[in-house]
Amino acid sequence: MKLTKKQFKQDFEKRLTTKFATDVEKAGPQETLAAVSSVIKAYYSKIWQEDNEYKDETKKKQAYYFSIEFLPGKMLKSNLLNLGILDTVRESLSDLGIDLDAIAQIEPDMAIGNGGLGRLGSCFLDSAASTGIPLNGNGIRYSYGLFKQKIVDGYQVELPDSWLDNGNPWEIRRADKAVEVHFGGEVWLEDDGTGRLMPHYRNQERVLAVPYDTPMVGFENTTVNNMCLWRSEVPKDLDLRFQNLEYMRQTAMLSAELYPDDSNYDGRLLRLKQEYFFVSAGLQRVINHFKNINKVPVTHIADFISIHINDTHPALCVPEFMRILVDEFGIEWERAWNITVKVMSYTNHTILSEALEKWPEEMVKNLLPRIYQIILEIDRRRTADLLPKVGAKLVHSTRIVKDGQIHMANLAIIGSHSTNGVAKLHSDLLKDVELHDFYLIYPERFNNKTNGIADRRWSQIANERLSGVLDETIGKSWRHNLNELKLLEAYKNDENTLERLQAANFDNKLRLAEYIQEHNGITVNPEAIFDVQVKRLHAYKRQLLNVLHILKLYFDIKDNPEIEMVPRVFIFGAKAAPGYHYAKSIIKCINEIANMVNNDKDVADKLKVVFMENYNVSLAEIIIPAANVGEQISLASKEASGTSNMKFMLNGALTIGTLDGANIEIFEVAGKGNYFKFGLTKDEVYEYYRNGNYNAHDIYEQNPIVHRILDAFIDGTIPNISAEGPEVFDSLTTYNDEYFVLRDFNDYVRAQKDLERLYKNKNAWAQASLMNIANVGKFSSDRTIKEYADDIWHVHEKK
Ligand SMILES: *Cc1c(COP(=O)(O)O)cnc(C)c1O
Repeated sequence: MKLTKKQFKQDFEKRLTTKFATDVEKAGPQETLAAVSSVIKAYYSKIWQEDNEYKDETKKKQAYYFSIEFLPGKMLKSNLLNLGILDTVRESLSDLGIDLDAIAQIEPDMAIGNGGLGRLGSCFLDSAASTGIPLNGNGIRYSYGLFKQKIVDGYQVELPDSWLDNGNPWEIRRADKAVEVHFGGEVWLEDDGTGRLMPHYRNQERVLAVPYDTPMVGFENTTVNNMCLWRSEVPKDLDLRFQNLEYMRQTAMLSAELYPDDSNYDGRLLRLKQEYFFVSAGLQRVINHFKNINKVPVTHIADFISIHINDTHPALCVPEFMRILVDEFGIEWERAWNITVKVMSYTNHTILSEALEKWPEEMVKNLLPRIYQIILEIDRRRTADLLPKVGAKLVHSTRIVKDGQIHMANLAIIGSHSTNGVAKLHSDLLKDVELHDFYLIYPERFNNKTNGIADRRWSQIANERLSGVLDETIGKSWRHNLNELKLLEAYKNDENTLERLQAANFDNKLRLAEYIQEHNGITVNPEAIFDVQVKRLHAYKRQLLNVLHILKLYFDIKDNPEIEMVPRVFIFGAKAAPGYHYAKSIIKCINEIANMVNNDKDVADKLKVVFMENYNVSLAEIIIPAANVGEQISLASKEASGTSNMKFMLNGALTIGTLDGANIEIFEVAGKGNYFKFGLTKDEVYEYYRNGNYNAHDIYEQNPIVHRILDAFIDGTIPNISAEGPEVFDSLTTYNDEYFVLRDFNDYVRAQKDLERLYKNKNAWAQASLMNIANVGKFSSDRTIKEYADDIWHVHEKK
């Protein structure tokens, strides 16, 4: 029974009364949002309960996605869409004089992740629910999500994101399912009388882990999965000796803040504590549930659960699961190990060496003494077992414990039956280079799962205008199966379709132009090419390359104010990790270059540069549908996959990009002429590494255009960057340009010219845009999650 308008209005008005003692006329926006959310929650709760009963009764295998980050964004419209009641609710509210979009907009983003990694987790949870795959999330309920970014005098300023101030309507606190997690103290082993060594503990720090469940509602089906997020609290029965403020502060810290960086390893104790906290709590809950429901010996657990280790942060799943099997269930080591390897699987997300987690042995030993013993034992037994088989060299290079450190990726690979990369190129690099020694030992464990995106959010919700045109052109089947967009190819030469697609994009550009006017005070020309680079700020992503090209265009205009040029609006959105000094300097440079360009009379509206504050999922939903061009210009081999590249493609933007990550697969399916590719290949990059013969300074000396652009950073041309300018200049010259920005510059300029030429031909551009949309099907995370389910977890779709 679908919700009717009448029913919704009744429920909504009743909620306003029971929750806030108010009515439609007097309710403020927060009250309206809370009441709407509450009605929706009641509506799906029934479906959730039924699906839980179904899962318990059928006892089918379930998978659990352990991730230290998720990045869901706003939930209201996504829930409405998936429940199939978006239009009903929009119309009902409209009847009452309320604008759904205005209400939806004030919901805070659930930003308990940094960027791509967390967003992927959320796309997977959406897709799993929408394809009926029993996959549940497990993470941390940070009280403060990713910082809010303000730009002050061109600099990034970080403000706390206290997203829970007005409560979170979607979550349910499950106090009855709280578990304890223990840290520190001493552990020793004693014979239990039967010859088995049992651990005994003293002086451990106790933390209560309380789960908060957020339902993941499937798209127009009956599946509702769960995202479990843990909050740390002080156990109620804690010995009075320990009940002091410091202890309470320490405990609260565990789930207080998200570490605001995802491409650098941070070796701080609190981070390690967070990792064990959500791993231990999550595994305890999974195993408790298994015990209560499945009623088979725990030795069969691998037939009923799968645990996924998303990047290395949850790699402690391996020793913690061993601890539970061996210490708590009394299972003999070898058997427990075989079960653990069957249950666990791992995804690698990066080859950047600065991001690879390794913890000092002393730290692990002090914080997690029993886990430390187990890790040593895993390492010792594996070494003894493999030495005669593969030899000392391979064993040593792949050891978990070496040089006084615990290597988390090694632990994750060794302790699981599957290791995957996130795009073809990345997975090949893992096998051939980065994890080659592991590949030699465990070739059958390696596989690729090219990333995807939850297309419903990135088209049906973010781009209603385009969605409408697609419906009118090819029907609505694409809303259920993104591969159906292929039908659009038949309209490649249909001028009417091309015009309507472009008109949809133009409306989105108007919407973004308005947003920019309001938030940045910059007037942009909606006819201009909207050229967008939105992603975390990192040197390897090469926002600087984009910047150098902007400066080139600027100097072209200064040299010849009459020059013919298709007007461009360059749009940036990027947060820098608060401790990443260089990235913050680049933000400052972008903002000062924006000031210089936007206020130069010679430039008029040929060029505008806009840095949009506080890039997050909600902002992405406004920016990406308005883009003509998506910048995916990382140095080849550095971006494991990228996912914003897929969002742009889905929304009809053309990619200018390097042969990196999933760009390669995008180029493959988009077809020649429908993208702009440039730059070094991964082989050429590795060739430079081998020979050590890259010389950035030579390029600076020999290329007059590059010379002039770089000098602008140090000669006062760009105002207000007295410290940041030289820093950028030096990185590209003295410090030899780690990411080959100068090496790729000429080819990038060439690709940008090709792009400009195509844009002048409106029809050809529209066709290329259409071809991107028509061929984006592969990048639905519905496809990705089915591959994980089939190949790695062996869990099945609900029929
Ligand atoms: C998709 C997305 C990302 C990932 O972008 P990449 O370009 O793949 O790095 C980061 N942040 C947000 C808010 C996103 O929506």
